[in-house]
Formats: sequence, structure tokens, C-alpha cells
Amino acid sequence: MHFDIIELRSLNITTFTRTFLDFLYPPVCIACNKPLLDGSQKVCIDCWNAIPLVTKHLPLYQEMRMKLLSDGNISDLVSRFTFEKEGPFQHIAHALKYKEYKSIGLDLGTHIGEALKEWSLEVDILIPVPLHRIKHRERGYNQSEFIARGIAFVIDKPIVTNAVRRIRRTQTQTELNIEERRKNMEHAFELIPHSSDILLGKKCLLVDDVITTGATTNSCAQVILSAGATKIIVAAAALAE
Ligand SMILES: [Zn+2]
Repeated sequence: MHFDIIELRSLNITTFTRTFLDFLYPPVCIACNKPLLDGSQKVCIDCWNAIPLVTKHLPLYQEMRMKLLSDGNISDLVSRFTFEKEGPFQHIAHALKYKEYKSIGLDLGTHIGEALKEWSLEVDILIPVPLHRIKHRERGYNQSEFIARGIAFVIDKPIVTNAVRRIRRTQTQTELNIEERRKNMEHAFELIPHSSDILLGKKCLLVDDVITTGATTNSCAQVILSAGATKIIVAAAALAE
């Protein structure tokens, strides 16, 4: 009984603080800046609805899938959203990386989890594309790991973060063409000792936030396969045009 009262009090204080903060700084959508009706959300429903969805018939999906599969490391691709320059997803991807809007990663992950089910794709483990440890420390978290958590919530598979690591701090890839990106990502990842115990014979879902050329995921997939994994399916929250 005593416990209940304490819980009730702390709940009231939290609700009060939030209401007060919402009054001072009304929560706005990170994409369009319009006030949000539900302060627990980060993106308004209009912006979510404005993001073109990825389907198997979308030319962007088909081109990206072909590009990813062409090197022979990746077996399939699943995604849900389209990343357009200046479009709503650009704001979401930005927030995901540079502000601590971790909960969006979980939302994105649940969408991918649903897509995996709809597309009848099965995996054994989820591997978020790792960040370099310095970047991880600067940011405080890996955004792809939050997306993976959202996926795991839907498909109930373990997330593995101790099998592969990023060993090179690669320069930002925005200004590079496909060939330069590929070179930039060469030897960017390595296996963590004893990772074969985890990866051997496994169908892996390699989780990334936005895929542009696939150079990063391809380089990471190659390393995972070298430890005896049988299959790599790439999951990306969004595909960039
Ligand atoms: Zn909005």
C-alpha cells in the first residue's frame, strides 16, 4: 500500500513536470515544427504519412537490392521508408544521429520488424552496423542499435553487438562517389576474437539507418561471412535516392 502511494506521487510529479515543460516549450514535430498534439511523439502524423513507403515494386528498392546483391555478400534487403533530400525522413535521420531521440529508432525498428514478417524473411540474430568506438563515445549510443531493438521487439531475436567492430574512422561519405565510398570502407571492420562461436551457421540481419550506396553494409557483411555466418540480410530504416 505504502509502495503504491510513493509510485502514485512520483507519477504525479513526472506528469506535472512534463505538463509544465510542455507549457513553457510546447513540443513540436522535428520535421515540420508544427505543435504536436501528443507530447510523447517526436514526429507528427502528417510527416509520417508524407514519407514515401518502400515496397518490393518500387524502382528505388529494386535498384538498391540489385546493387547490394551484386557483390555476393548480401542475400536480401528489407526497408520501409524513402529518404528524400529535404524530405521528412532527412529530419528524422538527423535527429536520430545528432540528438538523443532514441525512441524514434525503436519506432523505425518496429516498422522494419513488421516488413520482415510481411515479406516472410527469417533470421537468427540481429547485428547493428557498429560505429567506431570514438564516434560511439561522442554520440553516446549507436542509432542502429536502437533500430535493432525495435525490430527485436517484433520478431523476438537476439541482438549481437560483440561480434564485429569498426576499426577505421572513415571520413564522411556525402561528397564521395560510389567507387570512392567503396575504397573508403575497405578494411573498415574486423571480427572481435571468438566471434565465430556466435556467427557460425547463423542467418544474420545487418541493421543500418539509411543506405545510400551500400558500401558500408557490404564491407561489414563481408567480415561477418568470413566468420562462418551463412546468410546476410540487410535491414535499413530508409533507402536514399
Ligand atoms: Zn510534422
